[in-house]
Amino acid sequence: MDNINLINRLSSEHNLSDSEFLKLITTSEYDAELFLAADKTRRENYKAAVYIRGLIEFTNYCKNDCFYCGIRCGNKKAVRYRLTRDDILMCCAEGYSLGFRTFVLQGGEDPYYTDDIMCEIVSSIRKNYPDCAITLSVGEKTRETYEKYFEAGANRYLLRHETALDEHYKKLHPNNMSLENRKKCLFELKKIGFQVGSGFMVGSPYQKPDNILADLRFLQELSPDMIGIGPYISHEDTPFKDKKSGSLELTIRLIAILRLMFPYALIPSTTALGTIHPEGRELGLKAGANVVMPNLSPVKVRKLYTLYDNKICTGEEAAQGNVKEH
Ligand code: SAM
Repeated sequence: MDNINLINRLSSEHNLSDSEFLKLITTSEYDAELFLAADKTRRENYKAAVYIRGLIEFTNYCKNDCFYCGIRCGNKKAVRYRLTRDDILMCCAEGYSLGFRTFVLQGGEDPYYTDDIMCEIVSSIRKNYPDCAITLSVGEKTRETYEKYFEAGANRYLLRHETALDEHYKKLHPNNMSLENRKKCLFELKKIGFQVGSGFMVGSPYQKPDNILADLRFLQELSPDMIGIGPYISHEDTPFKDKKSGSLELTIRLIAILRLMFPYALIPSTTALGTIHPEGRELGLKAGANVVMPNLSPVKVRKLYTLYDNKICTGEEAAQGNVKEH
């Protein structure tokens, strides 16, 4: 009965006390009720719809050295690639013919793509596909650069905060990166008018329940349109190669909590979730997620965008995906 009360309160008030959130995060005791409630909330707001976003991973060059990431600049084994504007437009053409109406351009922080080059890419997509949303996910930039992207026709931006507490952020990133700047970017993107997505890795090294609580509180403060979470998965050529990966259980529990906290949010069931479990993305959708992002990148580069080991969707089948409506 207590379990149901707690979940009912989260469903109706979209909030709980710190100690209640910690209880939900740290035990599986509430999972059955939690998943049912999250699924119900998703259906009330979105019916059976699952939104499809075409992901174009257009560069794996990165000037950053995040300790967890396979495309960090310090990974000298990574085979690097960049897509040209024409390559990207071909991905969009294929996606459009398959019915995709949102293109997500994601990449490392690659200085090759100056503001002029990036804006030319965005405005070409905007001109060819006026009915489509253009989402960028290219990291931390200045406000001026974000404004240029927006004027060129981009309307959404994904930038996970990664972790909301400074002490933890410093354990995951080198000294030249700061949580303060990442958060500043997110608030600037919102002010400019982007629909903003943020999020974090579940089970990243050194993450404790208090960190996750801080992530939930930060998301409340930011109030993003999209929330992307996925399990941390180790990569063999990073300093964290021996760290344990995050779990399916905690990731889907957090998807369900986020659905109840943010009933209208767009929450993807991520590739990382599909990588740690063959049914991961389906389980994410059943626990409240409502977005999937099949890979539209050219087949020959898919296996090179290796953020973590054994990443799925590297084969011919990816654009078609394995999407079933729930
Ligand atoms: N450069 C952009 C940025 O910083 O937002 C976008 C690319 S970045 C590789 C996209 C996301 O991949 C990051 O926000 C991070 O959460 C996720 N990621 C990186 N390494 C990962 C890993 N080992 N396991 C799971 N997710 C990872």
